[in-house]
Amino acid sequence: MDVHCSTCNEPWDVYHLQHEAIFETSLSVAEAEAWQSLSRVQKLSDRYREKFKAAGWEFGQTVINVIRCPGCPKESKANPERMETKATLETLLSGDEDGLAATFEDYRL
Ligand SMILES: [Zn+2]
Repeated sequence: MDVHCSTCNEPWDVYHLQHEAIFETSLSVAEAEAWQSLSRVQKLSDRYREKFKAAGWEFGQTVINVIRCPGCPKESKANPERMETKATLETLLSGDEDGLAATFEDYRL
């Protein structure tokens, strides 16, 4: 399944976001592996958000909701309507990451 970046529209594979993007950060391999077993909320704690941001990633409440990605042009801004739609779906499908990914894919978000 693919979801799209809210800023540059680049498609990203959900598996990559859930399991591989963390290895692009400055975390050690051991830390990145430990991250995988954290809860949804812990995965995007301030500490990890900062690490992701340094690697070019910004997410909503889950890593499925890509607001900015490493492919985004520097000066580009996220599409506000797209961000709002994705945030609403994310709230509706809270706790159901697979359902959220499938919905984003259906609507090409
Ligand atoms: Zn992007």
